[in-house]
Amino acid sequence: MDLAKILETSEMVLVAIGEEFQDSSLDIYNNKDDRNIFEEYTRLEHLKKREEDRVDQAYSRLNSLLKNKDYFLVTMCCDDKIYDAGFEKNRIVAPCGSYHSLQCEDVCTNEIYPTENFKKDIDEGKEPLCPHCRKRLVINRIGVPRYSEEGYLKQWEVYTGWLQGSLNKKICILELGVGLDHPSVIRWPAEKIAYFNQKATLIRVHSFLYQIPEELKERGYSIQEDPVIFLTNQIV
Ligand SMILES: [Zn+2]
Repeated sequence: MDLAKILETSEMVLVAIGEEFQDSSLDIYNNKDDRNIFEEYTRLEHLKKREEDRVDQAYSRLNSLLKNKDYFLVTMCCDDKIYDAGFEKNRIVAPCGSYHSLQCEDVCTNEIYPTENFKKDIDEGKEPLCPHCRKRLVINRIGVPRYSEEGYLKQWEVYTGWLQGSLNKKICILELGVGLDHPSVIRWPAEKIAYFNQKATLIRVHSFLYQIPEELKERGYSIQEDPVIFLTNQIV
């Protein structure tokens, strides 16, 4: 399979970035009920200070591959690394949330607050509190008991609008490392798009969840590989 060639002949490219790209220091799926803001903040600090790593390099390669293409990126990660990779920010949506934002643990309002605004409190060992109800603020990400979707919904509308324009277009869906934790966000929709759009191509790359449905075999590629390595090995 020649990825560069497929992208070259595609009118639109939908890229789905999965959990295999998530920074391992966040380890969110093992800490579903962890609401200790101090520990979470330490993770955020770690993310900000990190050296360029293999995921950054893979994103940079992807950015070159998508140059001048009509693309959209849906990421299942909430580490925000993707925003540092040079992609157009209005072509990214992160439905799982972001470590850089806080929400009320009770979602008393839909307001989202930059985590940085509470740095002073956190540094002094004070738990940041909701300005409205004085309950605790938690990271605005999937996995907290009541996840507020407000942080990404506007951008989700931009994405669905973009996707509506793909009917009858030659669209390449490049699915990289998307697992089965939240399949209704992008994994199942990707299959549905590929199924209904006869001009679509689905490329699914995953270390172990690389299988594609039988009916998509004709216009699909199923690749068993670490998607980070897969991208890094692409010749641009
Ligand atoms: Zn509140």
